Amino acid sequence: MPTQINPATGEKGKSFPELDDRAIDVALDEAVVAFRQWRTSDLNDRVDLLNRIADQFDARQEELAAVATFEMGKPIAQARAEVAKSASAFRYYAEHGPAQLAPIDHDMPQGTARSHWLAQGPVLAIMPWNFPYWQAVRFMAPAIMAGNVGLLKHASLTPECADLLEDVVLAAGAPKGLFRNLHVQASRVEKIIADPRVVAATLTGSEGAGVKVAEAAGRNLKKVVLELGGSDPFIVMPSADVDQAASVAVKARLQNAGQSCICAKRMIVHTDIYDAFMDRFAEGVRSYRVGDPLDPASEMGPLSSVQARDDMLRQIAEAERSGAHRLFGGEGLDRPGAWMTPAILTDIPRDAPVTREEFFGPVAMVFKVGSLDEAVDLANDVPFGLGSSVWTHDAAEQARFTRDIEAGMMAVNQMLASDPHVPFGGVKRSGHGRELSAIGLHEFMNCKSVMQ
Ligand code: NAP
Repeated sequence: MPTQINPATGEKGKSFPELDDRAIDVALDEAVVAFRQWRTSDLNDRVDLLNRIADQFDARQEELAAVATFEMGKPIAQARAEVAKSASAFRYYAEHGPAQLAPIDHDMPQGTARSHWLAQGPVLAIMPWNFPYWQAVRFMAPAIMAGNVGLLKHASLTPECADLLEDVVLAAGAPKGLFRNLHVQASRVEKIIADPRVVAATLTGSEGAGVKVAEAAGRNLKKVVLELGGSDPFIVMPSADVDQAASVAVKARLQNAGQSCICAKRMIVHTDIYDAFMDRFAEGVRSYRVGDPLDPASEMGPLSSVQARDDMLRQIAEAERSGAHRLFGGEGLDRPGAWMTPAILTDIPRDAPVTREEFFGPVAMVFKVGSLDEAVDLANDVPFGLGSSVWTHDAAEQARFTRDIEAGMMAVNQMLASDPHVPFGGVKRSGHGRELSAIGLHEFMNCKSVMQ
C-alpha cells in the first residue's frame, strides 16, 4: 500500500489501498463499456470535454500544485507552472485535434482511397513521479481526443496526484470509466498488459521498467510507446552567446532538482570559451536557491526520496573514484528529508562508465572539447538519444548537429522543453514512439485505409 512521504521533511502522509484482482477486473470491464460509447462520440463532445478538463486544472491549480509539492518535493512555483501547462495540453488537443483526425485521401492509378483515424480501446499508461500531472496528461489528452480510454498506473511516490487526475476528469463530466486510476504495484503491470481488454501500453520511466513493459507488450503483440531515460548533451561552440548559454545551462540542468528526462546532463564546451562558460555556469549553480519547496523563492527543493538522493551521492562517489574532479557540491544535508546540494563534475575520464550513465538529479558533468567532430562524438557516446541542446550561430554547425546528433529532439540556442505542438520522444535506449502533436495523437489509433 503506497504511503506518502514528504521528501522535504520525511513525514508520512496518507496511505492508498491497492486494488485487488477483482477490483482490477471490474475497472477493465468498465473501461470496455466506456470505450464502446466514447469511440462513437461526436468530435465536438470530445472537444467540449477537453476544454472542461482544462478549466478544472486551472480552477484547482493551488490544490493540485500543493499535492505534487508534498509528494515529490517540487518547488511550489514549478508545481503551479506544471498544472498550468497540463491545462494547455488539453486546450491544444481541443483546438487542433479535430483537424488532426481528418481522413487522408490518396490517389491511386485506378480509383481512390481514404485513410480514417479510428480509436482502438483502453490503453494502459505507466507514469513517473517527476512531473506527476504533465507526464500523465501527455497521454490523457490525446487519448480522450482519439476516442480511446485511459488506464493509469502511476508511480508509488505520487498516489494522491494520481487520484486527483481521475477526479479532475470526472469533475469535468467525463463518462464513468473513460479515465481510471489503478492503484497497483509495478509487479501487476505485466498481467494488465496481457489482458485482452487492454489494447496497448505506454510507459514514461526508467530503462529497466521499459524493458519489462516492452517484453510484456511484445509477448502479447501489443503496441507500446516508451519514453525512457536520457543523458542529454548541451553543446556550446565558440560562436555562441556564452553568457546566455551558461545562464540557461544552470536552469536546464537543475530544473525540477535535475529530475527531468530532458535535463541537460552533459555540458560539452569548446575549449576556446570553456573558461568563460565555466565562470558563469559555476557561479549560477553555486548560487541556486535550495530551500523549502513551499517558499515561492526556492529554485530547488529536496529530491523525490531519500533513496533517490542516496543513489545520487553514490553515483558522485563512483565518478570521483574513476578520476573525476568534484568542483563543488554533491553533499547530503544533515536534516530530515532528501536534501543535497547541486554539484559540478569536471575532468571526467572519457572511459569512466559513469560518463554513459544518467544522473537523475542535480549533478552536471562538464567536458572540454577541441572541435565540432569531438563534440558530436562525445554527444553520441551514450546509450541514450532523447534530447539535446546546441549553442552556435554558425549555420553549418547547426546543420551538422541536426544531421548527426543521435537524439529525438534538439534545441538551438535555447533550452529544450516539451510543448504540445511538437512531437516528443527519443531514439536508442531512450525509447521509441512519440507523444504530443498530431504524431502523439495517432500513436494509439487505427489508420484504416478504405479503397473505393
Ligand atoms: P521507474 O522506476 O521506471 O518508474 C516509472 C513508472 O514505472 C512507475 O509508475 C513505476 O511504478 C513503474 N515501474 C517500475 N518498474 C516497473 C516494472 N518492472 N514493470 C512495470 N512498471 C514498472 O522510473 P523512475 O526511476 O521513477 O523515474 C526516472 C526515470 O524515468 C529516469 O530514467 C528518467 O529519465 C525517466 N523519465 C523519462 C521521461 C521521458 O519522457 N522520456 C520522462 C520522465 C522520466 P512504481 O513507482 O510503483 O515502481
